[in-house]
Amino acid sequence: MEKDSITPGDKVSAIILAGGSGKRMQSEIPKQYMRLGEHPILYYSLKAFDNSSIDEITLVINENDREYLIEKLLKTYTFQKPVHLAPGGEERYLSVYNGLQVCRNSDYVLVHDGARPFISVEIIEETIKNTKEYKACAVGVPVKDTIKIIDTNGTIKETPDRSKVWAIQTPQAFQTSLIINAYEQLLADLNQETGGGPLAVTDDAMVLECTSRYPIKIIMGSYSNIKITTPEDIRVGEALLKGLKEEFL
Ligand code: C5P
Repeated sequence: MEKDSITPGDKVSAIILAGGSGKRMQSEIPKQYMRLGEHPILYYSLKAFDNSSIDEITLVINENDREYLIEKLLKTYTFQKPVHLAPGGEERYLSVYNGLQVCRNSDYVLVHDGARPFISVEIIEETIKNTKEYKACAVGVPVKDTIKIIDTNGTIKETPDRSKVWAIQTPQAFQTSLIINAYEQLLADLNQETGGGPLAVTDDAMVLECTSRYPIKIIMGSYSNIKITTPEDIRVGEALLKGLKEEFL
């Protein structure tokens, strides 16, 4: 694979996704604004990106949560980096696409789930370094469990070789033009094939896989970089928070 040289002046943006409805959390308060330790869940990833070398942050929000965002985050905490807002879409990939519109003038873009509070500055920096080198990079961890592919009857169809299976997390990062072109191609194909109906696109790497098949470098994430999705994840998150370093407090 051809490697690019690193240009110190490159503009790097982060998209932090908080546009979901959090239905699986069954909570009155939108998931991103529920408390984990002393702060709202969304605060932790915002702070990590704010402490990193990126230039700006675009926060993709669900319009229904705007009041929470202003009250619980923007009026409560100070961030050094510019924080832009973009509206969430019906599906995650549509939220990302809206966020990408704000980042069009950046060279590289990191996409991160706001529901992953335990992202570290070290992993963000490693992601940036590898994205400048490979143009497409995602963090993940080797799976510990044996993974089974099951059929529609709920019976096992096949067992992939565990040594080759990774659980992919975020950030996932790209040269901005590469990912925008891939998203535009995906949306055009989608309109043709399904008349614009939803598609099972659950991460950004998939968008490259479905379109250009551009190779994506996988780097080591962290087993602590969990996604807070269901009520038990809050309890796991609280326990992780206690065990983690001061940077998260
Ligand atoms: O739904 P899922 O677990 O894939 O959500 C991952 C992240 O994407 C969450 O931070 C969520 O807020 C965000 N998301 C979004 N817009 C959607 C759906 C999810 O920004 N329509």
